[in-house]
Amino acid sequence: MRAQALIFLGPPGAGKGTQAREIAKEFGIPQISTGDMLRDAVKKQTPLGLAAQAKMEAGALVPDEVVSGIVEERVAEPDSKKGFILDGFPRTLVQAKFVDEMLQRRGRGSPLVVNIDVPGDVLMKRLTGRRTCPKCGEIYNIYFSPPTENEACDKDGTKLIHRVDDNEDTIRQRLVAYEDQTRPLIEYYTKKRLLHEVNGAKDPATVAVDLINFLKKA
Ligand code: AMP
Repeated sequence: MRAQALIFLGPPGAGKGTQAREIAKEFGIPQISTGDMLRDAVKKQTPLGLAAQAKMEAGALVPDEVVSGIVEERVAEPDSKKGFILDGFPRTLVQAKFVDEMLQRRGRGSPLVVNIDVPGDVLMKRLTGRRTCPKCGEIYNIYFSPPTENEACDKDGTKLIHRVDDNEDTIRQRLVAYEDQTRPLIEYYTKKRLLHEVNGAKDPATVAVDLINFLKKA
């Protein structure tokens, strides 16, 4: 893979986090998830967490300058030297322009953008059924890929969590935020000829194999 910055685009529930995790393992590069970093800050009730919490719980986006700041700090860490995956960032045109400027300033070249496409009706079930291991980050779905033991992680037995924003009302708001603010990025990156489309409706393991094969040649 030639590109140093990989961007994962797609609506909530498309499988960005699941796929980014696989790609990070395969290529030995960090997965930089703004959602995970923000949730961690909320849990620790840091100033960043306190600033982001209400927006996240309402299913709205956190202000651009707040998220851009945490991405810039994370990209500056030594483990991002070889390359990195931006998972859930950028989500607005302002953030996309920020990424362009940041990559140029840091001499990191053009990003490769993977758009994971999934039909709308599948997303709600994926999100309401999602459960995550707070210890190892493994993602399950009680409808499609349940853990063996009810609500416990197969890998380490930790009790799985259900994200507070994975309830129907908040999901609807998150999908609106996606349509209004994030979907325009598909056109933005298509025009720049940086976009690669992936069919995210297939099962996650198949999507991962397709994606790894593509990236090895990209
Ligand atoms: P995610 O885990 O990617 O679904 O993100 C969870 C929530 O964190 C979103 O609904 C937003 O409130 C916030 N968030 C994550 N990434 C961003 C971003 N790039 N811009 C603004 N808000 C974000």
